Amino acid sequence: METPDKPDKPEKPQRAETREIIELRRLREEQPDLEQAIDLQIQLLQLQRRVQSRVPLPAMNLASAHLETVLASGKPILTFEQIPIDWSDLRFLVRSTADAMRKHDALDGDDYRRIDALTRDAERLAPAIRDWYEAARAIPAGGRDVGPEIAGLEPLLLQAMRPFLSRCADAIMARSVFQGWPHGNCPLCGGEPDFSYFTPAAERLLICSRCTSRWRFDQLACPFCLNADRKRITSFATRDGLYRLNGCDVCQRYLKAFDGRNAHRQVMPAVDALATLTLDAAAVQRGYR
Ligand SMILES: [Zn+2]
Ligand SMILES: [Zn+2]
Repeated sequence: METPDKPDKPEKPQRAETREIIELRRLREEQPDLEQAIDLQIQLLQLQRRVQSRVPLPAMNLASAHLETVLASGKPILTFEQIPIDWSDLRFLVRSTADAMRKHDALDGDDYRRIDALTRDAERLAPAIRDWYEAARAIPAGGRDVGPEIAGLEPLLLQAMRPFLSRCADAIMARSVFQGWPHGNCPLCGGEPDFSYFTPAAERLLICSRCTSRWRFDQLACPFCLNADRKRITSFATRDGLYRLNGCDVCQRYLKAFDGRNAHRQVMPAVDALATLTLDAAAVQRGYR
């Protein structure tokens, strides 16, 4: 029998706005042409927050010594079975994310209908989510093309899975700094980084696109192909020095960074990714992807 989705319950009173949402509203005032993208981001953050507060700890041994042993094997720590997914919450998130993306022109009608069909059938949803988790990751971590069922829907599933994965990341980062993990993919979930952070001490942390884990990585090397030849990395920054971009001239991929040495706040990937869309445009113009 179908269980009703939790959002049908009356909404809790609006909690204090997160700092990310405050920053996003400020960005929208500064850059009104980003309104559509920013409004979508705010809506996604609000949806995710409603679920995240009730996600339990991952079902795994969280002892630091155990985590270090798993890391030393070179494989990402978190298996699919260990993710504390509540399927009713996930179905709600997949549907609501699709609604939000559709409303803000970030999802076409065909894909919207595919998502709708997927969430109506529990026997299809669970294997599809597993496929996303195990395939939509970095190639050295076992990444491959996802199946036809979810091809093209990866960004949506990433948003819907975010509360479960970031809960795992928070729990594990409280117990491990991922020391001895030299790889360019995420030590927790095997995802690729999609942002990075230079600490005030000039260390570089990569930030996972899927679970938001952060791990220390070589300051210069390309996390995608490990090219570390200074002459084959092109770097440029915004005029205020707050953001940087490194493009790799071997694999042509690029990664943006928030430079904590020139900042008055912490990195906020959900905000900073949108604040730097002009850097993306500049990178694409130079042939990076
Ligand atoms: Zn990750
Ligand atoms: Zn590269």
